[in-house]
This record gives sequence, structure tokens and C-alpha cells, in this order.
Amino acid sequence: MSKPKIAFFDFTSCEGCQLNKLNLENDLLDLLELVDIVEFREAMDDKADEYDIAFIEGSISTPTCITRIHDIRRRTKILVALGACAVQGGINAIKNQHSADWVKETVYGEDKYLFPSIPVQPISAVVKVDYEVRGCPMSTPEFLHVLKSLILNRKPEIFDHAVCVECKLKENECVLDKGMFCLGPITRAGCDAICPTFGQYCTGCRGVVSNINKNGAVEMLKQHGFSTKEALNRMKMFCTLELE
Ligand code: SF4
Ligand code: SF4
Repeated sequence: MSKPKIAFFDFTSCEGCQLNKLNLENDLLDLLELVDIVEFREAMDDKADEYDIAFIEGSISTPTCITRIHDIRRRTKILVALGACAVQGGINAIKNQHSADWVKETVYGEDKYLFPSIPVQPISAVVKVDYEVRGCPMSTPEFLHVLKSLILNRKPEIFDHAVCVECKLKENECVLDKGMFCLGPITRAGCDAICPTFGQYCTGCRGVVSNINKNGAVEMLKQHGFSTKEALNRMKMFCTLELE
């Protein structure tokens, strides 16, 4: 039986999610027994015309991104968005909060006319996305879970409860009670509450749960001493587009 052909592509991003795959170390050799990696710019020169599964990192931010993602969608059976930029626009979408001209001038200076740029969008705003792996960078256990499920023809488990649930299951002391900020109550679980577990606050990198109560979250943060402005600004770091 032939192995599924998988490919990795990067759009506007830091490429950290792809790097995370190269860091899989213990699992990488086992993985290569199960799949054929046919395209992966960060690791090899080969290219292919068709794929069974295409993993996409990064968000849409230029006209070229749109033609490229349509082309990949046409060539692949399954498309998986990898990481915050691909899934919800991520940090890149902060750009949308400012005037396009100001952003281009700030980044490119007098060369701004050489770089066509459009408002940032997640991959799902342009083509059908079949599955997601969230996080900044993407969670490697979740990536392996999604990949193994797809190889076995199973539907990967999708998390839609808050990071606080995982945090409580780990019996962590709540960082809000230590005077720190935390977006765990509105952020989608799946990372095993890794940041609060190591004494840091959740910045919301996995995006928000469905049907969040934004006003309730702001109110809760106000009760812990944070202003409405600060609460909303921090929510917008990874979730600008999800909160629109
Ligand atoms: S530390 Fe953050 S994620 Fe954990 S319970 Fe408190 S608010 Fe929720
Ligand atoms: S705890 Fe929050 S910021 Fe940390 S990995 Fe999980 S979702 Fe991302």
C-alpha cells in the first residue's frame, strides 16, 4: 500500500510551526515510515504536483498568497491549517488595526510601493480548511494527533473548552490570584495549559472558544485590577479577527 503524500507550505509567518516539526526528533523517523513527505521547503528541495494532506503555516497577507493557496487547495485532498497565523490570522492580524499605508511606510519606508499588501486573513477566509492545529507555535502533540488520525482515516478530536479547564485539572494555582493577567477563561484548550503550569499567563495563542462572552471576560479581568483597554488590547494580540 502506498504511503500518503504530505506537503508543508508557509505563508506569512515566522516559520516557527514548521521548525517545530523538524524538532520532533523521537517521532520524526517513525513518522517517515508512515508517510512520504513530498514537499517541505524548509527541509528539502523536492516538489510534487499532488498531495494527500497539505499542512499550511502562516496567514494570507498579499495578493500572491491568494493565488498560491487556491493552487495548493486544488492539488490536495485534505488541507490542515497549522498555528495561530494560519488558523485565526494570529499576530499578523494586528496590522489590520492600523491604516494600510502607515503599516507599509513603517515596515518598508520609501520602498513601500514595491510590496503589495492586503489586510491579513486566516487561510479559512480564502479556501476550505479541513482541520486545524492551533497555537503559537503549533502544539506538536496536537500535530501528531491530527496526522495520525488522518492516516488512520479518523476524525481528529477538536477542543472547544477553555484553557482554565486543563489548568484546573493540573491543579495549578491560578495566576490571576497572583496578580498576573490571564486569558485562560476564553482561550481554546489543547495545550495542556502549558503556560500557567510553568508560572506564566495565557496570552490566548490558541484563539478563543466558540461563543465567548467577551464582555464577561473583560468584567472578570477588571475585577482582577485590569482596565477594559488593557483587557481588550491583550485579547487582540492573537485574536483580532475572532473578536470582530
Ligand atoms: S491561571 Fe489562567 S488558565 Fe489557569 S485557571 Fe487561572 S485564569 Fe485559568
Ligand atoms: S496556555 Fe495560552 S498562551 Fe500558552 S500555549 Fe496554551 S493557549 Fe497558548
